[in-house]
Amino acid sequence: MSEVDGLKERARQAVAEAADELIGASREIHANPELGMAERKAAALLAGQLDAHGFKVERGAYGLETAFLGSWGEGPVTIAYICEYDCLPEIGHACGHNLIAAAGLGAAYGLKAALSPDRVRLLVFGTPAEETLGGKIILLERGAFADVDVALMVHPSPVDIVAPPMYGVAQADVEYKGRSAHASILPEMGINALDALVLAYQAIAQLRQHIRRDSRVHGVITYGGGAANVVPERAAGQFMVRALSPSYLEELKGRVEACFRAGAEGTGAEVTVTWGPWACAPMRNNMALANAYRANAESLGRVFMDSRLDSSGSSDMGNISQALPSIHPMFGIGAMAFNHTPAFTEVCATDAAHAAMVQAAQALAMTGIDAVLDPELLQSARDEFARA
Ligand SMILES: [Zn+2]
Ligand SMILES: [Zn+2]
Repeated sequence: MSEVDGLKERARQAVAEAADELIGASREIHANPELGMAERKAAALLAGQLDAHGFKVERGAYGLETAFLGSWGEGPVTIAYICEYDCLPEIGHACGHNLIAAAGLGAAYGLKAALSPDRVRLLVFGTPAEETLGGKIILLERGAFADVDVALMVHPSPVDIVAPPMYGVAQADVEYKGRSAHASILPEMGINALDALVLAYQAIAQLRQHIRRDSRVHGVITYGGGAANVVPERAAGQFMVRALSPSYLEELKGRVEACFRAGAEGTGAEVTVTWGPWACAPMRNNMALANAYRANAESLGRVFMDSRLDSSGSSDMGNISQALPSIHPMFGIGAMAFNHTPAFTEVCATDAAHAAMVQAAQALAMTGIDAVLDPELLQSARDEFARA
């Protein structure tokens, strides 16, 4: 057995030995779902476990109450494992972030068991609010990833996908201001803000037929008036624009804004468009690292789906991937349920999901070993990143 194979075996064993603890943490987080920036129990639990495993732990890292940073070692290569642990409103852990949190910890335990502290600088980031504000974007802006060589995480999904495409996303709040009037006595005195928003909504619905298939536009009306017999003075909506290409995302934002203006123009209402702070960048999967993850996961018996995906979500991991070599492989959790549905919430607490999580953690640990001990891999990950 080569040195690397022996160390990978040690990492696998360390993760397997910690499996009960990791599964316990995952179940605990799943049973106590917490929304973004309020993940106090989850952050405390995970930070406490890192503490117990000999990591130096900073709670409330970078000024975010529910972020944390575990660190260990002073080696020349810095590996960051990423944990997420926020839930969705009403349907709990329907994105399986309980499994991401446990896998990130497990990967760190595995790498720490395999390497001496003079070979690696190992960081474990607790990143809040993936589903809402994008905690990673804030951490990134505050310099958290400045000296990190590679960032690695995994995400549960119906199947294993080594390099899932993920859209960049921009979110707009739109508000129309009209003039109220009695809807029957003097409708001609009114300016109907709801009409303006409906006009814009229809314009966007028609635009969607003619946009690139690697993009998306979708939205909701959040306020449309208070009474049926009053011409609505105010109407509001929230829309998201997504694309795999950053330049096309910008172009599409412009076309969606034109639809918003069309609603105002047609009705005489005033429109205000506010592009929100939540703006995930598209994912740049580092294929050198992704292929290393794939080989490691396959050696554990994982099977990857190879067909090209033309549909995806978005993640604030996209922003990290634009700043340094990163991966975000999906691991299947043993059932055909889809993220962001109550069925997925249920599956994310099963034994099958936890067995898959342990394997994903092992593959992440092994990929960390590759990145530290194989200078050619690290160089090709850097070259690939620099080329893009
Ligand atoms: Zn999600
Ligand atoms: Zn997610």
